Amino acid sequence: MFKNFSEAQAYIVEHHIHQIDLKFCDLWGGWRHVTITAREFTPDLLTHGVGFDGSSVGFKNVRAGDMVLIPDLTTGFRDPFWEQPTLSFICNVHEADTREPFARDPREIARRAESYLRQTGIADQSVWGPEFEFYIFSNVEYENAINVSSYRVESIESAWKSSTGGHGHYIALHRGYHAIPPNDQLFNLRARMVNHLEELGLPVKYHHHEVGGPGQCEIEIPLMGLLSAADATLLIKYVTKMTAWREGLSVTFLPKPLFGEAGNGMHFHQFLKRNGKNVFYDPNAPDHLSQEARFYIGGLLYHAPALLAFTNPTTNSYRRLVPGFEAPVNCFFSSGNRSAAIRLPKYATEPETFRFEFRPPDATCNPYLAMAAMLMAGIDGIHHHIDPSEHHFGPIDEDIFSWSPEKRKTIKSLPTSLGEALKALQADHEFLLQGGVFTIDLIEDWIRKKFDEENQVRLRPHPYEIELYYNL
Ligand code: GLN
Ligand code: MG
Ligand code: MG
Ligand code: MG
Repeated sequence: MFKNFSEAQAYIVEHHIHQIDLKFCDLWGGWRHVTITAREFTPDLLTHGVGFDGSSVGFKNVRAGDMVLIPDLTTGFRDPFWEQPTLSFICNVHEADTREPFARDPREIARRAESYLRQTGIADQSVWGPEFEFYIFSNVEYENAINVSSYRVESIESAWKSSTGGHGHYIALHRGYHAIPPNDQLFNLRARMVNHLEELGLPVKYHHHEVGGPGQCEIEIPLMGLLSAADATLLIKYVTKMTAWREGLSVTFLPKPLFGEAGNGMHFHQFLKRNGKNVFYDPNAPDHLSQEARFYIGGLLYHAPALLAFTNPTTNSYRRLVPGFEAPVNCFFSSGNRSAAIRLPKYATEPETFRFEFRPPDATCNPYLAMAAMLMAGIDGIHHHIDPSEHHFGPIDEDIFSWSPEKRKTIKSLPTSLGEALKALQADHEFLLQGGVFTIDLIEDWIRKKFDEENQVRLRPHPYEIELYYNL
């Protein structure tokens, strides 16, 4: 929004800004914030920053945790949810003593991935289009999701029917795709979310009701660069949650909040650009996929099990990656098949924006780390000439669930649990270390912390176990 300090200062004076909110991304991919008064907004802030304790946000665990936040002026936006006029900035994280960029700042990792891409000469920019799926729940549905209904399809449906007034205009399970009002009762709320986003400078491509009957929605934004797409992801989570929360509703991006109903994915459309040209587009190839694009696809699918430790980093992620809900379960690419990990959308055929989508990810990822990791897998595919056809990665346009079990075994599966993905990352992470983009200590720390999460979930009796085994 601002090119320099004086532009920002002029805005603050002109719009009577009271509060300056400094937001930053923690290791897990969520925003945190600290607020200063407009009086404290001085040129000094851009060099000295505002101090905070990095050990409480997953950044530092051994050494003393002093770090500083330095606002990125280009990210400034008028925050619509504050009572007093407030300007928000996304911040970079720096070391407190040297003021050097902090090596584990997710924005810094994203920047390193982009600069590594340029160093390789493969491209000078990566372009991304994340898609955002989420559920909007009232308190009733939330209670149901976390209590009984999470394992009983019938009770989800009856709770949903009664909470929509029982007048017949509710959406049956799995029937929500592009539903029309009055069945789509969330269009006004989504429109308010979208208005906020547009007013604070993030254009929206479209929004609609998604497949999931009880309130699943989707928002899509235009294609943009890696850092902008990751910043936009956290902005969208903030704005959707805040808009709903103001009306007593709640938004969740949890990959699988309801058993038996569609999960929330975050597909990532992606392509590379060199000298303004789309590296993935070859007018002479039958499917228009360039050799680089094929190798990049090969890299994503070859490294997919390890990659998922960053793109699908929660125990709940793997409850979504099951057959029957348009979520991927196998490592292959296809031009139509929604159970494929990579899909070439038939509507994305213009040379300038020709691309594919990587479908496994969900929004519990840290978007900076997830996109950096995907890019690194793709680059590795190009460097090592990983040809999809040599690994049974497709293209396959048939429904592989109609195949015999023997034939299906020829296609590699995606991990079925967080633990499986973490073990894959333990065995396969060289591709992430190239160019110093990811560091080994970050990867080891990530694996350790995430194994601990998995263990914490495993230690707790599950409600469905009680139903199955209570009377044994
Ligand atoms: N909800 C599906 C998923 O989990 C995607 C559905 C769609 O966009 N066609 O990935
Ligand atoms: Mg979509
Ligand atoms: Mg969708
Ligand atoms: Mg999609």
